[in-house]
Amino acid sequence: MSRREFVVGSAMAGLGLSLGSPPPVLAAAAADAWFDKPMRWAQLTLVENDPGRYDPAFWLEYFRRIHADGACLSAGGVVAYYPTEVPLHHRSAWLGKTDPFGDLVAGCRKQGMAVLARTDPHAAHQDVYDAHPDWIAVDADGQKRRHWASPELWVTCALGPYNFELMTLVHREIATRYAVDGIFGNRWSGSGMCYCEHCQRNFKAATGLALPRTNDPRDPARRAYLGWHQGRLFELWKLWNGAIRDVTPHARFIANSGGGALSPLDMRTVGELSDILFADRQARQGMMPIWANGKNAKEYRAALGAKPIGGIFSVGIEEPYRWKDSVQSEAELRAWVAEGTANGLRPWFTKFSGTLYDTRWLSRVERIYQWHHAAERYLRNERPLARVALVYSQQTATFYGGDRAREKVEDHTLGFYHALVEARVPFEMVHDGFLDPDRLRAFKLLILPNIACLSDGQCDQLRRFVRDGGSLIATLETSLYDEQGARRADFGLGDLFGARAGGQLQGPMRNSYLRLEGDAARGRHPLLAGLDGTQRIINGVWRVEVTPTEPSTASPLTLIPSYPDLPMEMVYPRVERTDQPQVFLREIGRGRVVYFPWDIDRVFWEVMSVDHGTLLANAVEWAANEERPVSVSGPGLIDVTIWRQKQSLTVHLVNLTNPMMMKGPMRELLPLPEQRVRIKLPDGARPGKVQLLVANQAPRVEATPGYLTVIVPAVVDHEVVAIDL
Ligand SMILES: [Zn+2]
Repeated sequence: MSRREFVVGSAMAGLGLSLGSPPPVLAAAAADAWFDKPMRWAQLTLVENDPGRYDPAFWLEYFRRIHADGACLSAGGVVAYYPTEVPLHHRSAWLGKTDPFGDLVAGCRKQGMAVLARTDPHAAHQDVYDAHPDWIAVDADGQKRRHWASPELWVTCALGPYNFELMTLVHREIATRYAVDGIFGNRWSGSGMCYCEHCQRNFKAATGLALPRTNDPRDPARRAYLGWHQGRLFELWKLWNGAIRDVTPHARFIANSGGGALSPLDMRTVGELSDILFADRQARQGMMPIWANGKNAKEYRAALGAKPIGGIFSVGIEEPYRWKDSVQSEAELRAWVAEGTANGLRPWFTKFSGTLYDTRWLSRVERIYQWHHAAERYLRNERPLARVALVYSQQTATFYGGDRAREKVEDHTLGFYHALVEARVPFEMVHDGFLDPDRLRAFKLLILPNIACLSDGQCDQLRRFVRDGGSLIATLETSLYDEQGARRADFGLGDLFGARAGGQLQGPMRNSYLRLEGDAARGRHPLLAGLDGTQRIINGVWRVEVTPTEPSTASPLTLIPSYPDLPMEMVYPRVERTDQPQVFLREIGRGRVVYFPWDIDRVFWEVMSVDHGTLLANAVEWAANEERPVSVSGPGLIDVTIWRQKQSLTVHLVNLTNPMMMKGPMRELLPLPEQRVRIKLPDGARPGKVQLLVANQAPRVEATPGYLTVIVPAVVDHEVVAIDL
């Protein structure tokens, strides 16, 4: 068994899946593989009445002008934009004798672009319903589902014959006629639970059970469904990929799928099946910070490694009311794309409708893409140089988080993520399915933000990481559950934490505090740096009852239990001081371990207390115990990333300082004042030319052995320090 088969096999084993024979997808890519070539993507999603009405020459000229080298064009699914011969594959009513898809493909090919055909199978017309009523999705009440936004259409079942039979013919036809480089499947994986006859029968045959009626991951049918559903979708992915590759060996089925802990498809398998993938997070909404686009990049890269990843961004507003013909501000667009670029996403703009009602976005995207094209040599990243990694865990979200995964799992990650950005620490994310020494070798410090579900094997991998000199930071219930969500008697990593788990989770605590301890001789621990002038700070909201395994351990943080918060006359601590540690700090060989038995990361996300941010940043500094690859000093909030290129080093600074940083959309970019960027040079590297790629100037540079300090006079939205080596 090859390593890859082993990896896929073990990824699936957790959910009781088996893959059978390995997919053909992963046969070594041909030497002339196209995947890594395109740097800038353009997506034009036609609407049904575009043919004959929109101007293809305008679009082709725009693609040329912005140096787009990859295109994704509407081909088929709910509407075919070419003269399809597949029965029930609905040709656009405006198609006539034309072939708008074919014309665009030919035009893009002439410009040397890679071309993906877009299909969307999630909805179907009445004739499909009439011919095959069983192809339509069924809700929990047994009703066939009309489309929620276009009620003349029907929602299809993703796991039945509509996808497995009809869409396979469609994909084969597109690949045969147009020799595209790939087919991009939008909304291919269904629109929620389906209770159609095929799903009922197939699930019963596979598991002996009836389809679940609950989302509770402890329900045996629900648990079986999670595995079966994923297995069926991966089967479909491989079927389509095989059908396309039979005709055009270099082409791929590219699923519009993937994400972080809350993503339903196992990212290890997604990463294994993909030679290229695109993160479809088109813009932020509500309270989402701008760095969310960088997070997309990190989550995908954790699964795909060095394979190319595109970042799909919308030129419009992405709020629940779905103004699909809208245009967002240039400041917002620039900030979102800069975050993606700084974190390794190749930009992909998406526009729905070939007929434009608001053209203001055209010049905005053009400016971004033209800069990107000019700087391209410094954006073909070889690898990130970050030494810190934040672990994410789909099994924790599924089996421990369940319906509350957002608050119980994801909010911990968001809090730690924000603290790392604020502390200007370059970092990566790591999938908990990839804790092997090969994957972790690049890192000095792994952060486990309430990664509750870890198998014994994963705990062993983490122990080995520490034994090899790595450091860990963990919070709350990390390792207190196994990979299936069953609670352990004690932490799986208790020996590293130096703590034993006691009773149940305590909380929500109100009005509880942490006492900052120190002694006269040695003063305070570096964890408390910057917290001078106080004896105590606020506590979190949830905590695990713990006892130290080494009773003599002195902790710099001890518990001050909750006391009444009303009436005001009653607000005084009943217990001034305890000996209950609220942080455990250990040195194990060259490694260091920090364990917070409370929800510091989650409550930081909720409350944003500066003291919690300071503790998190200090914990990272102490645990990493080495100089950072890049340190940036100066005012403001900046996302810092650092990359190795073939013959250069690049440091990205993305300016997140904005009065509306925490709620979109930005209106104005406020330049940051001068920043000093101190960069550790790779061993033996001799620096050559140094440039600021956005300001387009040579900066002031101070050199000391092994380091360069670059003075960046201002950062409007984004600056890239490029050092030729
Ligand atoms: Zn179904």
